[in-house]
Amino acid sequence: MRKQVIAGNWKMYKTLSEAKQFASELKAKQLDTTNVEAVICAPALFLESLVNETKGSFISIGAQNMHEEKEGAFTGEVSGQQLQDLGVSYVVIGHSERRQYFNETDESVNKKAKAAFENNLTPIICVGESLEQRESNETESIVSAQTTAALEGLSEEQVKNTIIAYEPIWAIGTGKTATADDANDVCRSIRETILDGFGEEVASAVRIQYGGSVKPENIEELLSKEDIDGALVGGASLQVDSFVKLLEAGA
Ligand code: PEP
Repeated sequence: MRKQVIAGNWKMYKTLSEAKQFASELKAKQLDTTNVEAVICAPALFLESLVNETKGSFISIGAQNMHEEKEGAFTGEVSGQQLQDLGVSYVVIGHSERRQYFNETDESVNKKAKAAFENNLTPIICVGESLEQRESNETESIVSAQTTAALEGLSEEQVKNTIIAYEPIWAIGTGKTATADDANDVCRSIRETILDGFGEEVASAVRIQYGGSVKPENIEELLSKEDIDGALVGGASLQVDSFVKLLEAGA
């Protein structure tokens, strides 16, 4: 059975004191996390404090991006080696905001996924279609091509340990959500793409999240679907109370 993973993507929100306050309030909650993993993907500046604040708790910490090289003259960037050294365990790769505003490509996503594994980080790889692509019935072909490119050259073991986040771009931060059935259909098609490339055992192990305006009111229905194994959540992960509700839905 696949364990649900609920990951908060804080984007460029919160001050350090707000981030620490959130972590200390969240870790004090009595939550049954037997069947759910809780991940906070925070701005790079807060990662060290959050790792320290959450040590020994049910909360894991993730970065929102990384550079594919181990080190070098890449001003302003953060490497997988540096994230691992801080005690970070997850990293979001290829978020649509990075693809749109920072020229992230399928090729750089693939390089980053490989670098993540070299540094013992679990990649959360984002894929998803634009509104135009959805309207012209290209969703499954776009998402399948993004998935294939992202996983190219990874070992079966690495793919099993990858998390794919299906995030339709038109649903991110807009309040519009894919219906649970539509989201599940696309998640299933991602699993079929992985089945074609890596076989049954890998496809049934890999976890596929849905992301795009997930909130306490809609998460239960999404998670009840067979091929949805959790959620990547922006807005509703910023308040402790709503993040707790999301985790409870996954439990
Ligand atoms: C996201 O940031 O990946 C996201 C899905 O945001 P929101 O939940 O706010 O739509």
